[in-house]
Amino acid sequence: MRAQRENANGGDDVNGTRERYLEAMGIQAWERRVDLPGLRPESAQVPDMPQAEPPPVVAEAQPPVSPPEPRLPESAETRSVASLDWSELKARVAECTLCELHAGRTQTVFGVGAHDADWMIIGEGPGAEEDRQGEPFVGRAGKLLNNMLRALGLRREAVYIANIVKCRPPGNRDPKPEEAAACRPYLERQIALVKPRLILAVGRIAAQNLLDTDVAVGKLRGRAHRYGDAGIPLVVTYHPAYLLRSPEQKARAWDDLCLARALLEEEA
Ligand code: SF4
Repeated sequence: MRAQRENANGGDDVNGTRERYLEAMGIQAWERRVDLPGLRPESAQVPDMPQAEPPPVVAEAQPPVSPPEPRLPESAETRSVASLDWSELKARVAECTLCELHAGRTQTVFGVGAHDADWMIIGEGPGAEEDRQGEPFVGRAGKLLNNMLRALGLRREAVYIANIVKCRPPGNRDPKPEEAAACRPYLERQIALVKPRLILAVGRIAAQNLLDTDVAVGKLRGRAHRYGDAGIPLVVTYHPAYLLRSPEQKARAWDDLCLARALLEEEA
Protein backbone atom coordinates (compact mmCIF):
# COMPACT_ATOMS: atom_id res chain seq x y z
CA MET A 1 0.00 0.00 0.00
CA ARG A 2 2.75 2.33 0.97
CA ALA A 3 4.44 1.82 -2.45
CA GLN A 4 1.11 2.43 -4.20
CA ARG A 5 0.51 5.75 -2.31
CA GLU A 6 3.98 7.00 -3.22
CA ASN A 7 3.35 6.13 -6.85
CA ALA A 8 -0.04 7.90 -6.82
CA ASN A 9 1.62 11.03 -5.37
CA GLY A 10 3.92 11.43 -8.27
CA GLY A 11 6.72 8.97 -8.51
CA ASP A 12 8.44 9.47 -11.87
CA ASP A 13 7.83 5.92 -12.89
CA VAL A 14 4.09 6.27 -12.78
CA ASN A 15 3.70 9.65 -14.57
CA GLY A 16 1.71 8.13 -17.31
CA THR A 17 -0.79 6.51 -14.93
CA ARG A 18 -1.18 9.70 -12.93
CA GLU A 19 -1.82 11.79 -16.05
CA ARG A 20 -4.42 9.37 -17.19
CA TYR A 21 -6.24 9.54 -13.90
CA LEU A 22 -6.09 13.33 -13.95
CA GLU A 23 -7.27 13.54 -17.49
CA ALA A 24 -10.16 11.23 -16.60
CA MET A 25 -11.08 13.63 -13.75
CA GLY A 26 -10.91 16.72 -16.06
CA ILE A 27 -7.88 18.11 -14.30
CA GLN A 28 -4.97 19.51 -16.22
CA ALA A 29 -1.80 17.75 -15.36
CA TRP A 30 0.67 19.94 -13.49
CA GLU A 31 4.39 20.07 -13.60
CA ARG A 32 6.48 20.50 -10.50
CA ARG A 33 8.23 23.84 -10.85
CA VAL A 34 11.90 23.73 -10.68
CA ASP A 35 13.71 26.84 -9.52
CA LEU A 36 16.58 27.35 -11.82
CA PRO A 37 19.71 28.90 -10.51
CA GLY A 38 19.79 32.64 -11.27
CA LEU A 39 16.03 32.86 -11.60
CA ARG A 40 14.08 34.38 -8.82
CA PRO A 41 10.37 34.19 -8.21
CA GLU A 42 8.45 36.75 -10.16
CA SER A 43 7.69 38.75 -7.13
CA ALA A 44 11.38 38.79 -6.33
CA GLN A 45 12.27 39.96 -9.83
CA VAL A 46 10.96 43.46 -9.24
CA PRO A 47 14.01 45.64 -9.51
CA ASP A 48 15.04 47.27 -6.37
CA MET A 49 13.36 50.64 -6.25
CA PRO A 50 15.40 53.43 -4.85
CA GLN A 51 14.27 54.03 -1.32
CA ALA A 52 12.51 57.34 -1.05
CA GLU A 53 14.42 59.62 1.21
CA PRO A 54 12.28 60.68 4.17
CA PRO A 55 11.37 64.33 3.88
CA PRO A 56 13.81 66.46 5.71
CA VAL A 57 12.59 67.48 9.13
CA VAL A 58 12.13 71.19 9.05
CA ALA A 59 12.35 72.77 12.45
CA GLU A 60 9.28 74.76 13.33
CA ALA A 61 9.97 78.43 12.94
CA GLN A 62 10.50 80.05 16.33
CA PRO A 63 9.97 83.75 16.94
CA PRO A 64 13.25 85.54 17.44
CA VAL A 65 14.16 85.74 21.10
CA SER A 66 15.20 89.21 22.14
CA PRO A 67 17.92 89.48 24.72
CA PRO A 68 16.56 90.64 28.08
CA GLU A 69 16.47 94.38 28.50
CA PRO A 70 19.19 95.50 30.86
CA ARG A 71 17.61 96.69 34.09
CA LEU A 72 18.58 100.25 34.69
CA PRO A 73 18.43 101.58 38.20
CA GLU A 74 15.24 103.57 38.69
CA SER A 75 16.02 107.25 38.53
CA ALA A 76 15.34 109.69 41.33
CA GLU A 77 12.88 111.45 38.99
CA THR A 78 10.53 108.45 38.91
CA ARG A 79 11.01 106.82 42.33
CA SER A 80 8.41 107.33 45.04
CA VAL A 81 8.99 110.28 47.35
CA ALA A 82 9.18 107.89 50.29
CA SER A 83 12.40 106.38 48.87
CA LEU A 84 14.30 109.62 48.23
CA ASP A 85 17.31 110.80 50.20
CA TRP A 86 17.78 114.39 51.24
CA SER A 87 19.35 115.71 48.06
CA GLU A 88 16.92 113.78 45.83
CA LEU A 89 13.98 115.05 47.86
CA LYS A 90 15.14 118.65 47.68
CA ALA A 91 15.63 118.35 43.91
CA ARG A 92 12.16 116.83 43.50
CA VAL A 93 10.55 119.66 45.47
CA ALA A 94 12.47 122.30 43.49
CA GLU A 95 10.96 120.94 40.24
CA CYS A 96 7.49 120.29 41.64
CA THR A 97 4.40 121.52 39.78
CA LEU A 98 1.87 119.27 41.51
CA CYS A 99 -0.37 122.09 42.65
CA GLU A 100 -1.19 125.58 41.44
CA LEU A 101 1.10 127.20 44.02
CA HIS A 102 4.08 126.49 41.79
CA ALA A 103 2.91 129.20 39.38
CA GLY A 104 3.44 132.08 41.78
CA ARG A 105 6.59 131.08 43.61
CA THR A 106 9.97 132.74 43.35
CA GLN A 107 11.46 129.48 44.57
CA THR A 108 10.46 126.51 46.68
CA VAL A 109 11.10 126.74 50.40
CA PHE A 110 12.25 123.26 51.27
CA GLY A 111 13.27 123.38 54.94
CA VAL A 112 16.33 124.05 57.00
CA GLY A 113 18.18 122.73 60.01
CA ALA A 114 19.81 119.65 61.46
CA HIS A 115 18.98 116.39 59.66
CA ASP A 116 19.15 114.52 62.97
CA ALA A 117 17.30 117.08 65.09
CA ASP A 118 15.30 116.10 68.18
CA TRP A 119 12.91 118.99 67.57
CA MET A 120 11.03 119.50 64.34
CA ILE A 121 9.17 122.82 63.95
CA ILE A 122 6.41 122.78 61.32
CA GLY A 123 4.61 125.90 60.10
CA GLU A 124 2.04 126.44 57.36
CA GLY A 125 3.81 127.86 54.30
CA PRO A 126 6.24 130.49 53.05
CA GLY A 127 5.36 134.17 53.29
CA ALA A 128 6.74 136.90 51.06
CA GLU A 129 10.11 137.04 52.79
CA GLU A 130 10.52 133.23 52.89
CA ASP A 131 9.64 133.07 49.19
CA ARG A 132 12.38 135.63 48.49
CA GLN A 133 15.04 134.00 50.68
CA GLY A 134 14.10 130.35 50.15
CA GLU A 135 14.13 129.66 53.90
CA PRO A 136 11.23 129.12 56.32
CA PHE A 137 10.60 131.41 59.31
CA VAL A 138 12.68 134.42 58.40
CA GLY A 139 11.72 138.07 58.94
CA ARG A 140 10.05 139.25 62.15
CA ALA A 141 8.15 136.03 62.81
CA GLY A 142 11.34 134.07 62.29
CA LYS A 143 13.21 136.24 64.78
CA LEU A 144 10.52 135.65 67.38
CA LEU A 145 10.71 131.89 66.80
CA ASN A 146 14.49 132.04 67.20
CA ASN A 147 14.05 133.87 70.52
CA MET A 148 11.52 131.30 71.74
CA LEU A 149 13.91 128.49 70.88
CA ARG A 150 16.79 130.29 72.54
CA ALA A 151 14.72 130.64 75.72
CA LEU A 152 14.55 126.84 75.71
CA GLY A 153 18.31 126.62 75.27
CA LEU A 154 18.02 125.62 71.60
CA ARG A 155 19.85 127.11 68.66
CA ARG A 156 17.93 127.45 65.40
CA GLU A 157 20.56 125.28 63.68
CA ALA A 158 19.91 122.47 66.16
CA VAL A 159 16.25 122.00 65.15
CA TYR A 160 14.70 121.21 61.76
CA ILE A 161 12.16 123.71 60.38
CA ALA A 162 9.73 122.99 57.55
CA ASN A 163 6.26 123.96 56.31
CA ILE A 164 3.07 122.17 55.27
CA VAL A 165 3.45 123.59 51.73
CA LYS A 166 6.75 124.45 50.04
CA CYS A 167 5.49 127.23 47.78
CA ARG A 168 4.07 130.57 48.78
CA PRO A 169 0.28 130.88 48.59
CA PRO A 170 -0.59 134.12 46.76
CA GLY A 171 -1.48 137.05 49.01
CA ASN A 172 -0.46 134.97 52.03
CA ARG A 173 -3.78 133.13 51.95
CA ASP A 174 -4.13 129.77 53.67
CA PRO A 175 -3.05 126.77 51.61
CA LYS A 176 -6.04 124.96 50.17
CA PRO A 177 -6.65 121.38 51.34
CA GLU A 178 -5.71 120.00 47.93
CA GLU A 179 -2.45 121.98 47.97
CA ALA A 180 -1.59 120.68 51.42
CA ALA A 181 -2.44 117.15 50.29
CA ALA A 182 -0.28 117.42 47.17
CA CYS A 183 2.66 118.62 49.24
CA ARG A 184 2.15 116.17 52.11
CA PRO A 185 4.46 113.38 50.86
CA TYR A 186 7.41 115.81 50.92
CA LEU A 187 6.80 116.73 54.53
CA GLU A 188 6.23 113.10 55.50
CA ARG A 189 9.53 112.18 53.90
CA GLN A 190 11.28 114.99 55.76
CA ILE A 191 9.83 113.71 59.04
CA ALA A 192 10.86 110.16 58.19
CA LEU A 193 14.41 111.27 57.42
CA VAL A 194 14.82 113.49 60.48
CA LYS A 195 13.09 111.07 62.88
CA PRO A 196 12.44 113.85 65.40
CA ARG A 197 11.72 113.03 69.01
CA LEU A 198 9.18 115.86 69.14
CA ILE A 199 7.12 117.87 66.65
CA LEU A 200 6.04 121.44 67.42
CA ALA A 201 3.13 122.42 65.17
CA VAL A 202 2.99 126.21 64.98
CA GLY A 203 -0.30 127.75 63.93
CA ARG A 204 -3.71 126.47 62.90
CA ILE A 205 -2.87 125.18 59.41
CA ALA A 206 0.06 123.09 60.63
CA ALA A 207 -1.83 121.70 63.62
CA GLN A 208 -5.00 120.84 61.73
CA ASN A 209 -3.15 119.22 58.83
CA LEU A 210 -0.80 117.17 60.98
CA LEU A 211 -3.59 116.01 63.31
CA ASP A 212 -6.16 115.72 60.51
CA THR A 213 -8.75 117.76 62.38
CA ASP A 214 -10.59 121.06 62.10
CA VAL A 215 -10.50 121.78 65.85
CA ALA A 216 -9.29 125.29 66.70
CA VAL A 217 -5.70 125.84 67.80
CA GLY A 218 -6.87 127.14 71.19
CA LYS A 219 -8.35 123.70 71.89
CA LEU A 220 -5.45 121.71 70.47
CA ARG A 221 -2.68 123.50 72.37
CA GLY A 222 -1.82 122.78 76.01
CA ARG A 223 -1.78 118.97 75.67
CA ALA A 224 0.25 116.22 74.11
CA HIS A 225 -0.70 114.60 70.82
CA ARG A 226 0.92 111.82 68.83
CA TYR A 227 1.84 111.91 65.15
CA GLY A 228 1.94 109.04 62.69
CA ASP A 229 2.60 105.34 63.11
CA ALA A 230 5.70 106.09 65.14
CA GLY A 231 3.59 108.03 67.65
CA ILE A 232 5.96 111.00 67.72
CA PRO A 233 4.93 113.39 70.55
CA LEU A 234 3.37 116.50 69.03
CA VAL A 235 2.59 119.82 70.72
CA VAL A 236 0.52 122.61 69.17
CA THR A 237 1.25 126.28 69.77
CA TYR A 238 0.51 129.66 68.24
CA HIS A 239 2.26 130.87 65.11
CA PRO A 240 4.91 133.56 65.81
CA ALA A 241 3.16 135.85 63.30
CA TYR A 242 0.01 135.59 65.44
CA LEU A 243 2.03 136.26 68.60
CA LEU A 244 3.37 139.43 67.00
CA ARG A 245 -0.23 140.58 66.54
CA SER A 246 -1.39 139.20 69.89
CA PRO A 247 1.56 139.49 72.30
CA GLU A 248 -0.73 138.68 75.25
CA GLN A 249 -0.69 135.07 74.03
CA LYS A 250 3.08 134.75 74.40
CA ALA A 251 2.76 133.37 77.95
CA ARG A 252 0.59 130.55 76.61
CA ALA A 253 3.05 129.90 73.85
CA TRP A 254 5.80 129.68 76.44
CA ASP A 255 3.70 127.14 78.37
CA ASP A 256 3.43 125.08 75.18
CA LEU A 257 7.19 125.10 74.72
CA CYS A 258 7.70 124.00 78.32
CA LEU A 259 5.19 121.17 77.79
CA ALA A 260 7.11 120.09 74.67
CA ARG A 261 10.40 120.11 76.55
CA ALA A 262 8.88 118.09 79.41
CA LEU A 263 7.52 115.50 76.95
CA LEU A 264 10.90 115.16 75.34
CA GLU A 265 12.57 114.65 78.69
CA GLU A 266 9.96 112.03 79.60
CA GLU A 267 10.70 110.13 76.39
CA ALA A 268 14.46 110.22 76.98
FE1 SF4 B 1 4.64 121.10 44.69
FE2 SF4 B 1 4.22 121.58 47.27
FE3 SF4 B 1 4.90 123.58 45.65
FE4 SF4 B 1 2.49 122.50 45.45
S1 SF4 B 1 3.29 123.62 47.21
S2 SF4 B 1 3.86 122.97 43.73
S3 SF4 B 1 2.91 120.35 45.92
S4 SF4 B 1 6.16 121.81 46.18
